[in-house]
Amino acid sequence: MAKAVLVAGGAGFIGSHLCDYLLARGERVICTDSLITGSRDNILHILQNKDYKKNFRFIKADISKKISLGAVSQIYNLASPASPVDYQDKPLETLQAGSLGNKNLLEIARKSRCPYLFASTSEVYGNPLEHPQKETYWGNVNPVGERSCYDEAKRFGEALCISYRKVHDLDAKIVRIFNTYGPRMRKCDGRVVPNFIDQALHNKPITVYGKGLQTRSFCYVSDMVDGLYKLMNSPQQGPVNIGNPQEITVLGLAGLIVKLGRSSSKIEYRQLPGDDPERRLPDISLARDKLGWEPLISLEDGLTATIANFRSGKQK
Ligand code: UDP
Repeated sequence: MAKAVLVAGGAGFIGSHLCDYLLARGERVICTDSLITGSRDNILHILQNKDYKKNFRFIKADISKKISLGAVSQIYNLASPASPVDYQDKPLETLQAGSLGNKNLLEIARKSRCPYLFASTSEVYGNPLEHPQKETYWGNVNPVGERSCYDEAKRFGEALCISYRKVHDLDAKIVRIFNTYGPRMRKCDGRVVPNFIDQALHNKPITVYGKGLQTRSFCYVSDMVDGLYKLMNSPQQGPVNIGNPQEITVLGLAGLIVKLGRSSSKIEYRQLPGDDPERRLPDISLARDKLGWEPLISLEDGLTATIANFRSGKQK
């Protein structure tokens, strides 16, 4: 029987979409998740589908603790709290996921002699002084700020991957994931897209932090998962940026969500949290050239699909 692909953090937002994607391609999948921010609800449809169920195994496990698994064919490490609200609420778990957890999975990859993909983040660029951000940019991160538990965990995680390449000749890949959105984001995870959609659908005030002039670039989750798969199955090791190069202000996003959600919500300005990056935009030339990847879903289409999903009441 073919060896399984391991998806750590597979019951999370991006992880569960990745499990779907791999199962649809006929892969066997082992999904681990500590469930501190992930949820069984995200994989329930797999466990209830008789074709997928036979190729799928879920193990509730924290990657920072000892974890014993047999040989696997590939490892995607998506296990970490990822929203600013979540990681600031769980700073120690976040630091452990990027360090100890990452090391535990790198060891499994070393023993399995298999490719490994570490989910890093655009947060390694901090509040960027270079715009758009290329992979060659070293970043502008506050090591003791509100976001440092996440940013530094991911920066350490990248250094660990590079060291495993050097010392063990491991095919340790690094992807820098930019803001991603879509169905299965938790309504209460604090990120801007679920917050604004939930507020718009209830005609409540849209909470814009600061003046709303800070920018982000939002990638629909199906595009993200396709990028992760292409990197894993290419000779490239990265770091590679995967994100959508359509930049929008937070205020612009609020307006778009109000319009698409046919909402009567008004904007309410709130205090800008500390160390909130002023702008963020991926340069995706490397992904385009080396992986033949670029996003296909426009922000309007992706938001329309996400709003429909939130309306259906499936979001927890
Ligand atoms: N934001 C906002 N209102 C909210 C939630 C977030 O204005 O209710 C802003 C936040 O300050 C940031 C941007 O939206 O500038 C994106 O925030 P998110 O938490 O989604 O992710 P980040 O890119 O900051 O990690």
